[in-house]
Amino acid sequence: MSGVNAGVAIVGGGWAGLACAVDLSAAGVPVRVFEAARQLGGRARRVDIAGHALDNGQHLLLGAYRETLRIMRRSGADPERLLRRLPLELVYPHQGFRLRLPRLPAPLHLAIGLLTARGGPPGEKLAAARFIHALRAGGYRLAEPLTVAGLLDRHRQRGNLRRLLWEPLCLAALNTAPEHASAQIFANVLRDGLDGARENSDLLLPQADLGRVFPDAAARFIGAHGGEIRLSTRVGQIAQLTGNGGKFAHVVIATAPRQAAELLREAPETRAIAALLDSYRYEPVGTVYLAYPEEIRLPSPMFGLCGPLGQWVFDRGPPGGASTIVACVLSAQGVWDTHDNESLAAALHGELQQTLGRALPDPDWRRVIRERHAAFSCRPGLPRPPAKTARPGLWLAGDYVYADYPATLESAVRSGCHVAREILDAR
Ligand SMILES: Cc1cc2nc3c(=O)[nH]c(=O)nc-3n(C[C@H](O)[C@H](O)[C@H](O)COP(=O)(O)OP(=O)(O)OC[C@H]3O[C@@H](n4cnc5c(N)ncnc54)[C@H](O)[C@@H]3O)c2cc1C
Repeated sequence: MSGVNAGVAIVGGGWAGLACAVDLSAAGVPVRVFEAARQLGGRARRVDIAGHALDNGQHLLLGAYRETLRIMRRSGADPERLLRRLPLELVYPHQGFRLRLPRLPAPLHLAIGLLTARGGPPGEKLAAARFIHALRAGGYRLAEPLTVAGLLDRHRQRGNLRRLLWEPLCLAALNTAPEHASAQIFANVLRDGLDGARENSDLLLPQADLGRVFPDAAARFIGAHGGEIRLSTRVGQIAQLTGNGGKFAHVVIATAPRQAAELLREAPETRAIAALLDSYRYEPVGTVYLAYPEEIRLPSPMFGLCGPLGQWVFDRGPPGGASTIVACVLSAQGVWDTHDNESLAAALHGELQQTLGRALPDPDWRRVIRERHAAFSCRPGLPRPPAKTARPGLWLAGDYVYADYPATLESAVRSGCHVAREILDAR
């Protein structure tokens, strides 16, 4: 882009845009972040509910989120304080299923974890260990586009381990039903999450609202390094930033794919990418908050519901607060989304009682949040755009750009940091 100043405009203050802005700010590059909403964080943001700082949706991070942990530290957010690290443990109290990865060196932790899982017949556990072994032997590269269901069929994954381990992992990580989800992306997640260093498989549970986990610290860091954040400022056209009055050396579109497509349509060089992004489909995520009297205790910080609607339950505390707040998560399209808010919350209250095997008092309050476009539907062979566009100085960042992963915080952060490196290299 010609006639420029040295600054970088970042369109979108989600985790991708903020990660990019933090790394550029640290290198002394002036940034200006334009965010359409009144707050930062995008699809991972704080929401105030009944006087509690909660989130637009329950999030779970993994030890494998190395760039997220790095960018948190760089911006001054302490992961040790803000995230509770637990060895991976999948518990279904109702079904008597429990898989826990012991604190042993990799890959022993995985083998022992699978073989000692409670609630799975020995044949299924052996088959699961063989499945991972086969993926590892093939370098986690699949020869052809397959769905996760197809991959599990091919490796004879059946029964409890399929229903309570692989399928829920697919839903949680890819936000796409196993019948539609990409087996290759699932294999990438297993490679980095389960089969890497032992700490990679740890669960990192936010101990504060998502704003405090990263966006608040990022905003402080950017401000302290001479950058600027403009909230409630929607960018309608990239030409606004490159024409008179706003000449930036680089512009990073760090929005979700739908919104990126709108901005990419404006120039002939980027219309093909806009058309590609127009073909994306999306999956919803629902979070149902139920607030119980504080004396109600849950058996673990996270566990599986008996179903048929609910998937995972998280204990949100708040520690020392007047309520025990429970977050029930519902990933991807499903029957849950045909329920209205009232009946969905009532059904999950019922499932929670059945899972725990005891009666609970009626919740003091309940709140349902549906994010309709929570994640792109992660299908086999889904094409991803490169970070560098054909328009000089125009870049793409966002969860959909990091081609190895599904829509996650880590893919958003990795793509933002990647664009920051490219811009620094281009200077
Ligand atoms: C309910 C829910 C649960 C999830 N659970 C998990 C989880 O457990 N673990 C996990 O890793 N991931 C999870 N995810 C996915 C994760 O939140 C996203 O992948 C990630 O936040 C995407 O970040 P992003 O920066 O790429 O995009 P976004 O968060 O969409 O940020 C884009 C920003 O751009 C702004 N914007 C858009 N258009 C414009 C414009 N024209 N001008 C200015 N600003 C604009 C938007 O307002 C937004 O703030 C979940 C998502 C949801 C919704």
